[in-house]
Amino acid sequence: MTTDWQAGRLNSELTDAGFDTLAVRAGQQRSFEAEHSEAIFTTSSYVFRSAADAAASFAGERSGNVYSRYTNPTVRTFEERLAALEGAEKCVATASGMSAILATVMSLCSMGDEILVSRSIFGASVSLFDKYCARFGIKITYVKIDDLAAWQAACTAKTKLLFVESPSNPLAELADIRALSKIAHGADALLVVDNCFCTPVLQKPLALGADIVIHSATKYIDGQGRCLGGAVLGRAELMTEVVGFLRTAGPTMSPFNAWVFLKGLETLRLRMHAHCQSAQQLAQWLEQQPQVKKVYYAGLASHPQHELAKQQQSGFGAVLSFEVEGGKEGAWRFIDATRMISITANLGDTKTTITHPGSTTHGRLQPHEREQSGIRDGLIRVAVGLEEYSDIQADLQRGLAAL
Ligand SMILES: *Cc1c(COP(=O)(O)O)cnc(C)c1O
Repeated sequence: MTTDWQAGRLNSELTDAGFDTLAVRAGQQRSFEAEHSEAIFTTSSYVFRSAADAAASFAGERSGNVYSRYTNPTVRTFEERLAALEGAEKCVATASGMSAILATVMSLCSMGDEILVSRSIFGASVSLFDKYCARFGIKITYVKIDDLAAWQAACTAKTKLLFVESPSNPLAELADIRALSKIAHGADALLVVDNCFCTPVLQKPLALGADIVIHSATKYIDGQGRCLGGAVLGRAELMTEVVGFLRTAGPTMSPFNAWVFLKGLETLRLRMHAHCQSAQQLAQWLEQQPQVKKVYYAGLASHPQHELAKQQQSGFGAVLSFEVEGGKEGAWRFIDATRMISITANLGDTKTTITHPGSTTHGRLQPHEREQSGIRDGLIRVAVGLEEYSDIQADLQRGLAAL
C-alpha cells in the first residue's frame, strides 16, 4: 500500500547510512495514510481480496500478511531496524529475552545435542538450560567464560551451540568473542552471544565472528523499563529455523511493544553513551573509597580484561558491581541507606537500580557455587541510569556512610 514516492524516499538512500540514521529510519514502511512516525498495527489477522488470494497466501504462494503470529508490520519494522544496527541478515523479534533463547535452542538443537554454556550467565537462562533443555535430552556443560582451553576441551562431535553473555552479570567478565567463534567453527558449532548489556551501540558480535546474537529488548533497547521483548539475529538460513519455531509455538512480540522498542532504538546511542559516562565516573570514584574492597567494571585499568574490552567493545557498559566490608549485613545496610536509587534487579532503565546479587539474582545458588562464581556476600550491583551524576554519587555516599 506504500506509494512509490514514499517507499523511494524511505529506502533508496539508506544503503550507506550511518548508525544514527539507521536507528531513526531503517525499516520504516509508510502506509497510504502517509504518517510520519511509525504506525502501530494492532490487528491479529489480515484480509484477502478473494478466496483464491486467501488460499494462495495460506499455501505460501503469495507473499503478504496472514496472521500476526506470523508477521506484523510494526514488528517487521523493529526487526529490520535492529538487523540494520547489528549488521545482521535477519532479525526475529520475540515476546521476551527468555523466549529469544528458547526459540534459538528449540529451533537449532535436537535430543542428544550438546550446548556449552558460560558459567556466568543470567539466572533464568541457567534454569532454562538445566531444568527444561536438559529434560528434553540436550546436554548442558558449563565452562568458565575466559578459559579458552576449557571451551576447546569441552567441544565434542555433538556440540551444537556455544552460549555466552559478555560482559557478564554481575562481575563484568568478558568472553573473547573472536577466539570463541574460531573454537565453535572448528567444532562445527555455532557461537551465540547474548548482547543485552552492550547493545549494538557498544558491541557487534556478528562482526567479531559470532553466528547468532540474542537480545532482551526489555533492557536498554526499551531503555525506560516499560515493555518485555527480545530478538534473535543472524544469517537468513538460521533465522528461517527460528521463525518456524516462533510462528508455531507463539512467543512473538506484540505490535505495541515493537513500537516502544522502535522509539527506544532511535535514542539508543545517545542513552548508551550517557549511561557509560556516568558508570565510568562512578566506578573510578568507588575504587577510591576505603570501604570498597573491589570494583568490577571493564572500563577500569585494574580490570584483568580491560585490553580485550577495548578491542571488542566501543564502550564499557553501565552495569558495575563492587564489594563492601561487612559481608551480607554490610551490603544490605549500604543498600537500605540509599534514598533515590531503586532497589530492584532490573537494569537498562533511565532510573539507577541497586541489588544484592547474593540474595536475589544468585540467591538460588548454593553458598559454595556462589563462592566459585565470585558472587561474595558483600557484593552489590548497580545499573547506572540517566539521573544527574552527582545525585547518583551522593546516594551511594549515603550507603558508604552507613557501613
Ligand atoms: C534480562 C535478561 C535476559 C532475559 O530477558 P527477559 O526480557 O527478561 O526475558 C536474558 N539475558 C540477559 C543478559 C538479561 O539481562
